Amino acid sequence: MALRQIRVQGDDVLTKVCRPVKEMTERNLELIEDMIETMYEANGVGLAAPQVGVLKRIAVIDVGDGPVVLVNPEILETAGEQTGQEGCLSLPGKAGNVTRPNYVKVKAYDEEMNEYIVEGEELFARALIHEIEHLDGHMYTEKVEGEIFDVVYDDEDDEDE
Ligand code: ZN
Repeated sequence: MALRQIRVQGDDVLTKVCRPVKEMTERNLELIEDMIETMYEANGVGLAAPQVGVLKRIAVIDVGDGPVVLVNPEILETAGEQTGQEGCLSLPGKAGNVTRPNYVKVKAYDEEMNEYIVEGEELFARALIHEIEHLDGHMYTEKVEGEIFDVVYDDEDDEDE
């Protein structure tokens, strides 16, 4: 496993539509492992392949319940509405308020190319939609209401909290 470099907004790769994954190769498995490691290292809750410069429909998410691998994810259903702060590893130190559905149902494949259904609410729903939008070349900044602002992240090593 290895850390990959996270591309930041302004990099063309973040504006491209990604290609579906046809089969799970060693190369794709390595990409998934690297993406999970890179997401944790950056303290993110999600990461999409274009954010590490790879134009494939793969994303990983962990909102605190363990890693979820999404290959060729498709939104089947959404419901409700939530407005809240959203950030992105490709725009470090910034956040903005975005309105999203409060519930989403997604069809995806896992790392063994088994099809599965995943449902999310609140933060998980937000993360699912955010990552799937990356696969079509979109950033949350296109949907921000009001200003994009600076955020100060808590450092785990900082004993002052
Ligand atoms: Zn993002």
